[in-house]
Amino acid sequence: MTQPAEFDAIVIGAGSVGNPTAYFLAREGLRVLVLDELSSSGQGQNKAAIGGVRASHSDPAKIRLGQLSLEVFAGWRDATGTDIGWKKGGYCFPAFDEKVEETLQGLLSVQRQFRLSIDWLDAEGISNRVTGINRAGLRGGSYSPDDGQVSPLKASESFTREAGRRGAVYRFGETVRSLVLEGSAVVGVRTDQGEYRASVVVNAAGVGAARICAMAGVTIPILPESHEAGISAPVREFLNPLVVDLRPGPEGRTINLYFGQDSDGQVIFCYTPKPPFYGENRTSTVEFMPTVAARLVEVIPRLKNLMVRRVWRGLYPMTPDGIPIVGWAPNRSGFLLGVGMCGQGFMLGPGVARNLASWVLRGRPEVDSDLLAPLSPSRDFFAARKEALK
Ligand SMILES: Cc1cc2nc3c(=O)[nH]c(=O)nc-3n(C[C@H](O)[C@H](O)[C@H](O)COP(=O)(O)OP(=O)(O)OC[C@H]3O[C@@H](n4cnc5c(N)ncnc54)[C@H](O)[C@@H]3O)c2cc1C
Repeated sequence: MTQPAEFDAIVIGAGSVGNPTAYFLAREGLRVLVLDELSSSGQGQNKAAIGGVRASHSDPAKIRLGQLSLEVFAGWRDATGTDIGWKKGGYCFPAFDEKVEETLQGLLSVQRQFRLSIDWLDAEGISNRVTGINRAGLRGGSYSPDDGQVSPLKASESFTREAGRRGAVYRFGETVRSLVLEGSAVVGVRTDQGEYRASVVVNAAGVGAARICAMAGVTIPILPESHEAGISAPVREFLNPLVVDLRPGPEGRTINLYFGQDSDGQVIFCYTPKPPFYGENRTSTVEFMPTVAARLVEVIPRLKNLMVRRVWRGLYPMTPDGIPIVGWAPNRSGFLLGVGMCGQGFMLGPGVARNLASWVLRGRPEVDSDLLAPLSPSRDFFAARKEALK
């Protein structure tokens, strides 16, 4: 009987979290195996993301992880020579009502503790940043110039290539069916094609992460929540920041509308449906395009002539409190989790990955471990604390 192949670390999932994790581990000389059931890199929820990347969150841990991610994305071309579509256009949250204004202003003090470059601009300042914004009811808004956008597919492909150049082995089209346990230690995985051993197994399986945890007897609450998005044909550059309109939609079926123009000139957009659609259905709904079109045109009337090329529906791996799950699995050794990324796994991916790699290599996260305590897999997921900008 052949012995299972041995690695230092196995990463389950070549997605928003798994790819940068493999890269940071391989960069330090570890022998890394990455397994994904899909046919190539970033084909899970990674490619559903519209590519917004920001550090301007409301939760301190997410602010710090976002800052680490931004360092990676912004410095990627210099580090590797590869263009991943990084556009430093900033994020803008315009306020059209008093409630949104109060929420956003209330967050500024936390955000500034982390030295985020974020300012409150008056209506004039916002209209100078967001060309063509509807001035009706516009009170002002927050603007964080260091945030931006990245192409999720270009990024995942580049992480995979760079990890591979450093020796990481990728096996696509291979599904993890069970974990190999020795006592309370996770020491490997069994797939539909073989068995592999490693001293650390990293669960970065996105919406499949709860199933992977269950293979080790670990329970984590991750519920797939579906969200739709779309992209236009390229148009001449007119919009620099990614815009988030936190108002509930007038039709009552949406909240937060997000949109921006990517580095190829395409306008990319999505909203948060209300109530949420739980489950794994990825068929586009008939209501998405008319609803999102009405909201986009309300915010920037000149978008009425935009030609939409494609829409899609993907899944957020949601947690009950809207906060990711990052750290060692409870009551198991050798089993590290970077899961439950909700609607922000692409932007948090490299920051989470740097901390996962640091845990494996140095036994502690890259940031202060107290800061990451609220993300612990052992926390009370149903406590009252909820992320304001999830
Ligand atoms: C419409 C929409 C817009 C979004 N916009 C943004 C955005 O602008 N910015 C942002 O940060 N986030 C955004 N997101 C959220 C983002 O896409 C997710 O949070 C993120 O991709 C999750 O990353 P992940 O690594 O956890 O999962 P994934 O990227 O899905 O990776 C998990 C991988 O694990 C693999 N896998 C699972 N189970 C197994 C198994 N048993 N065996 C082998 N492989 C397995 C899967 O095939 C998959 O490739 C958006 C999501 C949607 C739907």
